[in-house]
Amino acid sequence: MDQDRIRRAVRELLLGIGEDVQRAGLSGTPDTVAEAALEIYAGYGHDPEAALEVIEGPDNLIVLRDVPFFSTCEHHLLPFFGTAQIAFLPAGGRIAGFGSIARVVDVLARRLQIQERLTEEIAQALWQRLAPQGVYVALQARQLCMQMVGGREIGAVTLTVAARGALADGSARQEAVRLLGGDR
Ligand code: ZN
Repeated sequence: MDQDRIRRAVRELLLGIGEDVQRAGLSGTPDTVAEAALEIYAGYGHDPEAALEVIEGPDNLIVLRDVPFFSTCEHHLLPFFGTAQIAFLPAGGRIAGFGSIARVVDVLARRLQIQERLTEEIAQALWQRLAPQGVYVALQARQLCMQMVGGREIGAVTLTVAARGALADGSARQEAVRLLGGDR
């Protein structure tokens, strides 16, 4: 990441807003934003599939509820954040460590995203790496751009779903959705 470029761009943004970049409160802002970007966009350069630690286990339905994520909308550069509900039905005894599933969410969220694509990419990473019978991913989020800009849909929650294989429809999907506490 080009820290210097980010610092210069933040200074330009402040000037564009009409701010006084010399005032005490803003003197450190370009540095702080550039440093924060290292964490906020830490997902670049990491392969989400490689983040998945494949271990051996039974081919029983696995669900992870309320995995928190923080991402950034690529249109407004404003945060959207919420929780991921993830279910997968393994095949061939390939399961993934719970922590590494959360890590996949993190790698993909800490980039410029839209919620719809983030949901798809999480499902696809699990689908590719584990070759399971099925995958189901639902994200619920609050989009700061929806709340602060334009229509100001204050309090609106957005929900996106991506599914593959046996969890794309039918009774296995219903069971996964039930265990995850509903389509939320
Ligand atoms: Zn946006």
